[in-house]
Formats: sequence, C-alpha cells, structure tokens
Amino acid sequence: MKGFSTKAIHVGEEPGSTLHGDVVSPIHLSTTFAKTRIADVDKGYVYSRTGNPTRDRLEEKLAALENARYALAFSSGLAAEATVLLALLREGDHVVAFDDLYGGTRRLFDRVMGRFGIRFTYVDARDPGNVAKALERGTRMLWIETPTNPLMKLADIKALAEIAHSHGALLVVDNTFATPYFQNPLELGADIVVHSVTKYIAGHSDVVGGAVMVNDEEIHSKLRFHQNAVGAVLSPFDSWLVMRGIKTLAVRMERHERNAMAIARYLEDHPMVERVYYPGLQSHPQHGLARRQMRGYGGMLSFEIRGGLDAAVRFVESLRIFALAESLGGVESLIEIPALMTHASIPREERERIGIKDSLIRVSVGIEDLEDLIEDLDQGFRRLGE
Ligand SMILES: *Cc1c(COP(=O)(O)O)cnc(C)c1O
Repeated sequence: MKGFSTKAIHVGEEPGSTLHGDVVSPIHLSTTFAKTRIADVDKGYVYSRTGNPTRDRLEEKLAALENARYALAFSSGLAAEATVLLALLREGDHVVAFDDLYGGTRRLFDRVMGRFGIRFTYVDARDPGNVAKALERGTRMLWIETPTNPLMKLADIKALAEIAHSHGALLVVDNTFATPYFQNPLELGADIVVHSVTKYIAGHSDVVGGAVMVNDEEIHSKLRFHQNAVGAVLSPFDSWLVMRGIKTLAVRMERHERNAMAIARYLEDHPMVERVYYPGLQSHPQHGLARRQMRGYGGMLSFEIRGGLDAAVRFVESLRIFALAESLGGVESLIEIPALMTHASIPREERERIGIKDSLIRVSVGIEDLEDLIEDLDQGFRRLGE
C-alpha cells in the first residue's frame, strides 16, 4: 500500500484481523482483559489505558498518514503536546518556539510547563536566523507550527531541522493546519509531529483528540511510557470516530483547498478587503516556500476587512452559512474574529506585534458548494454597505 487514500482507508482495518471478517474495525469498549493463566497476566492487552485494540488500530492508521514508524493517540491535541513535553524535557531545559502559536499551546508552555522550570523563548521563526540566535546551551527543543494560526506564516522545516540537529535539539512540528495530506514534516527532517486530531483529521467537529507521530524508537518508548503514566488517552469510541473521519481525509482536503483558493481570490479582489493571508496566493510573502514544502495550501485563510473591528463584527454576524465559531477543520465553514475569540487571551500589544489586527477575520473554509459560500460572503459585504 503506497497511496495516501489507500492507506487512509485500509490500514488498521484489515478484514482478516477479526473473527468475523469485519470490513470496519470494531469498537472494543472493555477496560480490562481476562487471562486463563497467571503466567499470561501481563501478555497482550491488560488494561485499556495502557493499550486498547481500537486505539491501536487508530494509531496504525495515524502512523501511515505521516509515513511514520509510530503514532500515539491522545484525548486532545493539548494532551498530546503536554505528554511530549513531560516525556522529553526536565527542569532547566530551554525551548525555542515560533511566536505565532495556537493560543492553547502558548498557555500550556507559559502557565503550566513554566512552573516546572522549563523556559521558552519566542521568535519569528519565518527567518531561521532568528531561531539560531535564540539557541542556548540548555536548548533541547524547537517547536513550530507551519502554517501558523491565524496569519498563515510559514517556517522552513528543513532549515530548522538542520539548526536543531546541529545543536543536539529536537524539532517538533504542529502539523494541524497543513494536515498529513499536504505536508509531512518527518520527511523534511522533523523529529516529532503533533496534531490536534479534533480538526481536519477527524474532520466532522464531533470529536476532540490529539496525536503524536515519530520515527525514533527511543523517543517512541519514552512517549509510550508517559502516555500510560500520565493517562490522557483517547477513548475507544473516539478512536473509532477518528478512524472513520480519516477515510475521507484526502477527498475532504482536496475540496477544502479548492474552495479556500477560490474564496481567497474572491476576497483579494473585493474592495471591502484590505489584505488576504493564504499561502496559495502569489501575494503571500512565503508562497515560494509553501510550494516547496507543501503539496497543497489547505483550507484556512484570514483577511483584514475595511472599517476595523466594528465592520468585522457586523460582517461575521450577518453570515448565514459560515457559523460564528472557534475551532476549524470540519466539513462546515466557520468564521471568527481572532482579537475577540481565539486570540483574545494574548495581550493587545503582543497581538499587534505579531500582526493580528482587530479587523482580522479567520475563516475555516468548509466543503459546501462554493457558489453558496461566495453568495453568503457577498450578502455580508452588501449589508455592510447599507
Ligand atoms: C486546536 C489546536 C491545538 C489544540 O488541540 P485540541 O485538540 O483543541 O486540544 C493545537 N494546535 C493547533 C494548531 C490547533 O489548531
């Protein structure tokens, strides 16, 4: 099996692996597994936090998506991230991170891990030179997202992997926005990939989950130990839902991207729009890097509307198909104002330094009919003019 869709559909669901030849992997709800002999009590499945057949099948499928040797499933993206930090860092260690990270990741770093003596330095990782300059003797990890949320900034994974490795540090890439369909950081030199499975991978806004993918056996065994020791595992039912979502990841991403590209172009031409951020546009300052390290540009974009916060609020409230909501990556289109919603916890000066204006609107473009989406945006802009 080589092709992305073939693997996404078949890995973890081989009919020969169950008693009845199920075409779809069954849900194993049992929390404990009985043995007939004392000699076997630690053989096979013992307890579902430690190992569960449904979660195992999902982990096989998740590994296949990133062409990784190993994958681990967690109860949320943040649980996955916390487990990576707890498993691989200790007091006194230093991490260099992109200054444009998912807000929850930033909160985990500063307000949780910081209390345990782990230090974080934030830099604009679009320029690898900034990352190199921030390295210290105790730097053990570089942590990036690419593209970032909500400004769609890119970091050069290959260049940062070289910087990390020449310093004896690990490169972690949060690949949630790009998805494994469009970008595979491990193949570009990253050591660890993390995902909020909640977003595109599950894809239907009905399950919260996270994943970590790695190739290195030693890192994997540390993560496996901490997955059980910390205990933030994904439930069997949620594992099954994620497996179901993954089977259509490729077709969903094709459609997300086609709609997003068309909407980005529509917005770029609209007189009420100041600026559009989408890596697939020629006007994106890192379009060349996007072409080199991604196979597609995804379904996320943001834009600045003319008229400031007031116009932004009136616009998002007037839409009928785009739901006014946080989160992203589901089949339905969502829209939000980062300054008031997803990024409201970042102090204003810091937001402005990063480039998040009050007039910025973030869109998770869904897979509805493009004509309906454009018509909805059109009526929103028309009402602004009234
Ligand atoms: C949502 C998100 C997370 C956190 O994942 P949860 O599943 O909500 O815990 C991390 N990184 C990115 C880029 C995200 O969008």
